[in-house]
Amino acid sequence: MILDGTAIATEIQHEMRQEIEKIPGRKPCLAVILVGDHPSSSIYVNRKTKACEAVGIKSIKRHLPPSISEDALLMEIEQYNVNPEIDGILVQLPLPSHINTTRVTRWIDPDKDVDGFHPINMGKMLIGESDGFLPCTPLGIQTMLKRSGISVTGKHAVILGRSNIVGKPMAALLMQNTPYANATVTILHRQSPHIPEVCRQADLLIAAIGQPHFVKADMVKEGAIVIDVGINKVSGGIMGDVDFEHVKAKCSWITPVPGGVGPMTIAMLLTNTLKSFKNRVKGT
Ligand code: NAD
Repeated sequence: MILDGTAIATEIQHEMRQEIEKIPGRKPCLAVILVGDHPSSSIYVNRKTKACEAVGIKSIKRHLPPSISEDALLMEIEQYNVNPEIDGILVQLPLPSHINTTRVTRWIDPDKDVDGFHPINMGKMLIGESDGFLPCTPLGIQTMLKRSGISVTGKHAVILGRSNIVGKPMAALLMQNTPYANATVTILHRQSPHIPEVCRQADLLIAAIGQPHFVKADMVKEGAIVIDVGINKVSGGIMGDVDFEHVKAKCSWITPVPGGVGPMTIAMLLTNTLKSFKNRVKGT
């Protein structure tokens, strides 16, 4: 069966819109910073600000020149850190090579870090504290499983890729002693031997490597749940990391690309922004 990320994200956004409509006075607000003119980044930023608009979250877009210095960028972030009317701050990655991404990520107030990339939020996720922000893509995948009633308790989850934004946090989430987690987790990366054999042992296979159609039908166990995070630009559109057409017949569930994990990632950004707004309102 197809795990329809677009449909689930639309449902979440509909619920959120109804909730935000009822908020009297100030609405949640997300500040999005884009540095330079990376074509995909502009598309992603526009998608995010449009999604905000659709649910009633205010968004502020700050477009900065590619030549901006690291310190000047940190000062821009600082303005949003101290502004009580800003609930979420997102700096679109990648940043130009003269800017230290780690330093920028750490500069964002962890209480406004709706991307969930700050080490404090990463740490909270790892030790299972629920008051931080979870990274949007892994949270989107877990939410998709939850909303579809797919338990992964005791299942073998194999994650292809160990990036800080997808693979590692996905592993951390799935290994927690919480509902829609409690999986036995294996991470595979470029140095891993026997990748096809290990993938064949997966009850839940999550591909996040950025290699078009890397996962073939003979790498998938009959009845497995397959989640495709990959977004690979190819002539004629985008392609996932999974050879969807050949793999789908073997799966109990599979996400398409596009229309799977992507829309869920954006929905979770909105969810995190609303969570931050509620924290702020509670705190005043
Ligand atoms: P990344 O480049 O930071 O990390 C890729 C990881 O895959 C690395 O850990 C690397 O070791 C591993 N890898 C690469 N080739 C491999 C191979 N042949 N065998 C085993 N491991 C291999 O990538 P990322 O930022 O995690 O993104 C991965 C993919 O997911 C990209 O296509 C990206 O565009 C996409 N993505 C999608 C969303 C979404 O919302 N759908 C969000 C983030 C990333």
